[in-house]
This record gives sequence, structure tokens and C-alpha cells, in this order.
Amino acid sequence: MAENDEYVPDFDISRPTIARVYDAILGGKDNFAADREGAAAYMKYVPNAKDVALDNRAGLKKGVEYMARKGIDQFLDIGAGLPTMENTHQIAQAINPDAKVVYVDNDPIVLAHGRALLATNKSTTIVTADLRDPQSILDNEEVQAALDFTRPIGLMVVGLHMHFHDDEQPDEWVRVLMDACPSGSYLLITDFVDTGEPLQKAIEQAGLESLGNGWIRTPERIREHFLGLPLVDDKLEFIPRWFPGEPDREVPAVEDLEPWHKIMMGGIAYKA
Ligand code: SAM
Repeated sequence: MAENDEYVPDFDISRPTIARVYDAILGGKDNFAADREGAAAYMKYVPNAKDVALDNRAGLKKGVEYMARKGIDQFLDIGAGLPTMENTHQIAQAINPDAKVVYVDNDPIVLAHGRALLATNKSTTIVTADLRDPQSILDNEEVQAALDFTRPIGLMVVGLHMHFHDDEQPDEWVRVLMDACPSGSYLLITDFVDTGEPLQKAIEQAGLESLGNGWIRTPERIREHFLGLPLVDDKLEFIPRWFPGEPDREVPAVEDLEPWHKIMMGGIAYKA
């Protein structure tokens, strides 16, 4: 504890972290010089990097709204990131004021900045834990206290699953979490995609240069992250074309999308 009794997390500001780089790209203030350099690397390769982040946030919103409308009232948001515009609890609680949200992130700065949220929102919990050790998330006392694992849960792995991890284990980590969620639960994922567009390769290059990770994956590989569970509307889609639960909605043609709108895809799976 520091002298003023404030909890000061132990973090290294000389190296960029994805939570803070993402915050810098989105125009937030919770970042340091090294993170702004990381954000600049993204902008160098993908000048519309902020639009990519905004697409991802739009995907998060569409997914949470879909699940909340389906009656999901407890959410486990892994890799939650720093508080930004329209966070998961605000989106869910706009539909169901009693919705509970547990945010998990392995970057301690997220907990530090989330404390203000904790003070004002009794239905929101923030935990520092790592997707790569999923059992530690399930065993966490605060997670156990906040969520009822006998009732359906909306598991969220938005903007981090594959692309910040190599290809060896991520599906098994998510499987451990999904196995703990009962039938009626959902799995929401957004990811960097590889459909052969040069700008997709450019964002991978930016990530590798600034953070040492940020791989792109084919749609077929991203589908595997859903562990064989059926996708809502059978859709894994570029986010501007993705409206879960609205299969007949008119959406822009792929050819009409700007290249940066084709960097991320979203999907939701249902556990019957
Ligand atoms: N989910 C938010 C969104 O989509 O807007 C934030 C995405 S941000 C690009 C990725 C977040 O995942 C960062 O806050 C990072 O610290 C976190 N993260 C990356 N790897 C993680 C891991 N293994 N376990 C938990 N969090 C992780």
C-alpha cells in the first residue's frame, strides 16, 4: 500500500501493454508514452486503427444486447480492457438493470482504473486473472460470489482470444470456462480475421512490431474457437455485417465495406 492507502498496482510503464495501447487508439487517457508509441505503430500500418477498435466495440455492444435480450443476466467478460465508452455492464444493465457483470483482465491497470466503477455499481466486479489459467478464474472467490454457475452465463472473449495468443492452447482455455457454464449459456467472440486482405496482414504486422503478438486467423480457424457449439444464425461475420438474431436484416455487401471494416469478425455460439 502507498502512503495514502491507495492501492498502486505493480506495472511497468516502459513497455506497451495491449490494454493501454488499445486505450490510446480509442483516444483514452489511461496510457503512457510507450503505449502511445505502440498505438502509433498501429496507425502507421492501419491509419484507421481507431475505426477498427470502434468496430470491435460495436460488435461487443451487439453481442451483449443480443444476449441480454435473450434473458442472460450474468456476464463473464474476459480481457475486458480499460473502462471506455459503453462498457458491458452499462449495455447489459440498460436492458436489465439487475444484470451482473464480472470483468477479468490480466493487466492490473484494468483493476486500478475499474475501482471507480466498483464504487458506484454494486452489480459489477473486476478481477485480475489470466485466460491462460482458466481454472483460477473459476476458483476466484469474487467470481464465485458474483456469478451463479447453475444459471446461464454470457461468456465474452472479445478482442483478445486468438490474436494475442499463439495457436496452441486458446480453445482449451475457453473450453474450461464454457464447461463450467450450464446449458442456455452463450459464447461471444470477436477476432482479427485473415481473408487475404492486405490490411489484415498490416494489422498483424503492427501488432507483432509493437506488442510481439496480434496474429490474424482464417474464418475457419475462428469458427473452431466456438468449440463446436452452433453459431447464432450460423454466422461469423465482418462486424459491420453482423447483427445476431436479425438474419434477414439488409447489410452492406462485402465489396462495399472499407478495408478496415474487414479486419474483425464477430459471432455468438449457444450452448443447448
Ligand atoms: N474486450 C475489450 C474490447 O473488446 O473492447 C478489450 C480488448 S483489448 C484489445 C484486449 C484486452 O485483453 C486487454 O485489456 C488485455 O490486457 C487483455 N488480455 C490479453 N490477454 C489476456 C489474458 N491472457 N487474460 C486476460 N486478459 C487478457
